[in-house]
Amino acid sequence: MLNESVEKLSTQLQITPSLAKVLLHETRWNTAEVIERYRNNASNLLVSARIKAAAPSVPPPPAQLPVPSTSSAVVVTNPGATCSFIASVPGCSASSAIPGTSSNTSSISSSSSSISGSGKTHQPIGSTSTTTTVTVAACCYRTQLCPVCVTVQSTDKFHALSCQHSFCRDCWAMHFEIQIGQGISTQIECMEQRCDVRVPEDLVLTLLNRPMLRDKYQQFTFADYVKSHPELRFCPGPNCQTIIRSQDISPKKAVCRMCKTAFCFRCGTDYHAPTDCQIIRKWLTKCADDSETANYISAHTKDCPKCHICIEKNGGCNHMQCFNCKHDFCWMCLGDWKAHGSEYYECSRYKENPNIAHESVHAQAREALKKYLHYYERWENHSKSLQLEQQTLDRMRTRINEKVMKGLGTWIDWQHLFDAATLLAKCRYTLQYTYPYAYYMESRKELFEYQQAQLEAEIENLSWKVERAETTDRGELENQMDIAEKRRTTLLKDFFPTEA
Ligand SMILES: [Zn+2]
Ligand SMILES: [Zn+2]
Ligand SMILES: [Zn+2]
Ligand SMILES: [Zn+2]
Ligand SMILES: [Zn+2]
Ligand SMILES: [Zn+2]
Repeated sequence: MLNESVEKLSTQLQITPSLAKVLLHETRWNTAEVIERYRNNASNLLVSARIKAAAPSVPPPPAQLPVPSTSSAVVVTNPGATCSFIASVPGCSASSAIPGTSSNTSSISSSSSSISGSGKTHQPIGSTSTTTTVTVAACCYRTQLCPVCVTVQSTDKFHALSCQHSFCRDCWAMHFEIQIGQGISTQIECMEQRCDVRVPEDLVLTLLNRPMLRDKYQQFTFADYVKSHPELRFCPGPNCQTIIRSQDISPKKAVCRMCKTAFCFRCGTDYHAPTDCQIIRKWLTKCADDSETANYISAHTKDCPKCHICIEKNGGCNHMQCFNCKHDFCWMCLGDWKAHGSEYYECSRYKENPNIAHESVHAQAREALKKYLHYYERWENHSKSLQLEQQTLDRMRTRINEKVMKGLGTWIDWQHLFDAATLLAKCRYTLQYTYPYAYYMESRKELFEYQQAQLEAEIENLSWKVERAETTDRGELENQMDIAEKRRTTLLKDFFPTEA
């Protein structure tokens, strides 16, 4: 698909495919933009894409040994020989590629082709030189000083970019190896300091000898092209190289066909509705920074608020019942569950201190931490509940098995419990991502928290029922599922409009 775009552009503008590729990469594969900018001012486009040097002329002449004054005659007698290596010699370069002297297509393609095919066009002529014109021999036997390794070598060992900066091929190769080692590929620049002209792919591939490095380079450039394409994404799944395409680049859920990883198509992180891409990044960064502070929350056990016996959470449900004293309480806030079940569910809402603006800096910092921990704890709890889901499913399977053995229905009669568990996971996932949203949100907070609380209450109900259901409860359970899913979609519709 990338190659198709390259070919199309290359024929349309009559430019080489490699140039077309660089230009497309630069404009995030916006063919129309390339064509328009190219036709308006090709030179500008090439400079901004860093294919050509910005300065109209005056490339700093590379250190060069004194050459006989006849050198200027070389070009005059051999105007056809494209001699990009000695392009920096005044006069010699006049016919090919001093930046700024000409901006038309042919000069660009001829300069790029002369770079790639350089080794062949410029063979030393050797002993036969006596029969050909002396001036040509003088041209090809000319030597040059490489400013990097500071050795004098024959000019045909040198390669120059369109900026006319010329270095010996060993130094170029070394430069490429180092850059590729750092993961740089399409952005490898000229070795001259303060010159940001990019090295054409052809030159890199010509000068790299080790096949492993060439492979690496090609992988990296390909990855760069994919990353620059707005409609393409690499699957973020571990060890998955699948490329996923979508013409709609909104923050919607994408699922990899190979490894089933689900992610946000726009930003590539785990799918995060109703939180948007910037906020989720901010939140995840904050969590990473504050991981120390939040670590103490990670406990799997808490004490029963009534009899103080240690209780382990081993399922998703926040409605806990102490095995010792049968007290019903909320895992999150340790409050009496009665207040959660029947009355207005407030466990998810953070109550800010209304006078906090007048408190000391110290108190404000404490309050800020308290607020963060409130949201973090709920975010983390849903995430953990989801991880415990496999255990919940295993327990459910065992329980159903027992029931079926006792003749209490068939497996088909119990199938709806698995559907309920799937829905539960979906709702928990959405709920998890409501907490970063609520943490940062400023307007419409009341409505959001209301809907969030409703969804929390519904799924706690559902969760409790799923773990204790009998066949006769099927109708009630399905009703509960219906309500939970409606709450979920309403919340998303109101606060995350891209997800219909
Ligand atoms: Zn060198
Ligand atoms: Zn340069
Ligand atoms: Zn994948
Ligand atoms: Zn996103
Ligand atoms: Zn207890
Ligand atoms: Zn609570």
